[in-house]
Amino acid sequence: MGKTLFKNCKTIITCDVGDRVLYGEDILVDGNAIVEIGKGLSAEGAEIIDAKDLFIYPGLINTHHHMLQAFSRNIPEIQSYELFDWLMYLYEVWKNVDSEFVYLSSQVAMGELLKYGCTTNFDQHFAFPQGKGRDLIDRQMEAAGELGIRFNAGRSCFTRTQKNGGLPPDELGETTKQFIDDCERLIDTYHDANDFSMRQVTVAPCSPFSVDTEVMVESVRLARDKGVRLHTHLCETIDEENYCLETYGNRPLAWAHECGFTGPDVWYAHGIHFTDEEVAFLGETQTGVSHNPVSNMKLSSGICKVPLMLKHDVPLGLAVDGCGSNDSSNLLADIRVAYLLHRLNSSTQAPTGYEILKLGTNGSARILGRTDIGSLTVGKAADLFALDVNKLEYAGAILDPASFLGTIGYSRPAKLTMVNGKIVYRDGQLLGIDEEKVKAQADAEVEKIYSNL
Ligand SMILES: [Zn+2]
Repeated sequence: MGKTLFKNCKTIITCDVGDRVLYGEDILVDGNAIVEIGKGLSAEGAEIIDAKDLFIYPGLINTHHHMLQAFSRNIPEIQSYELFDWLMYLYEVWKNVDSEFVYLSSQVAMGELLKYGCTTNFDQHFAFPQGKGRDLIDRQMEAAGELGIRFNAGRSCFTRTQKNGGLPPDELGETTKQFIDDCERLIDTYHDANDFSMRQVTVAPCSPFSVDTEVMVESVRLARDKGVRLHTHLCETIDEENYCLETYGNRPLAWAHECGFTGPDVWYAHGIHFTDEEVAFLGETQTGVSHNPVSNMKLSSGICKVPLMLKHDVPLGLAVDGCGSNDSSNLLADIRVAYLLHRLNSSTQAPTGYEILKLGTNGSARILGRTDIGSLTVGKAADLFALDVNKLEYAGAILDPASFLGTIGYSRPAKLTMVNGKIVYRDGQLLGIDEEKVKAQADAEVEKIYSNL
């Protein structure tokens, strides 16, 4: 890997510890790291990128996704459903996923993430239909490698299916042993705990209404033994809360805590229906939350208490959620939605556009347990994206570049996206895959699935 020099950057929004916003400076990337930021830099043999019209941001980090939903979105029958009914419909689609479905939907979802500035993606894959093989996450790893995105694979499962009072159909069920054994295999095969790691694995049982206490406890044991992180859905809806009270005799967080599923190596998706006392407990235990504003609005799930969480120093990141409830994989767009949602809900107590950007960069890095990404800092990984703001619609709109993505928003793809020092998306083209070919294969796969339903 060579050197790249971003010359005369219009603005560098570093998101670093000093919250520095720099004007007219250069960024020098050597190999996979940022090696210098300053004025008038030069480097022999470097590719020079004229950045005089570009805002440069640290790469966005997505902390919750279900990429298989790229092929189960915008479905007319379920546009008005809430979570449980929405899931009951979609389980019928997910009963049919196979290796090719997962591979292609991962290419589509991560291709879109890269186009809109996301350089690290966490996915929680839960659908392992019986008889369809166990290599589904291996195919996601393959897709991520081809695209050049940093990837953390959450191995999920359903162990509480309809025959045991859970929501998912029995055909999607696995035993605790099947799940734990496959987690162990994936960790041993792929998990790289080093700085600048491109592949990590998380143990991620799905949700209180689709797994049981045993698998939660075993997940905690395995993850802590292997030194990997833990993730699950929690406090997404009132239906889930009622389910926990009836099934476990406990509120969701109390149940998770009893399973050992709290602490600085744990983060939950959604985290909407916590009491104020529970939010304080998350701060005390440093248990993280992934905020998914678009999905929460689409499914009418509720509003995460982001201002209160920030007050209690709860580790907090941003995410798109599965593209069935988003219905896309555009984390850049979600920054603006999050900003507006909390302005409406919390007025003067709401986070600024810049604070929301920080949730999607160093906040997300924190809940994934990473100190090597999330800001533009010398010595950190060269993960960044550039936006061309030399457009008519941005005239008069760039007084506050740090808050720009929240207050103004940027509705087109990035100019370029770099991951680990390598440009992987540039001027409308993903460089790691043949986009036209993948699009045609994806269309054919969708056609096949829906004609078989
Ligand atoms: Zn989810």
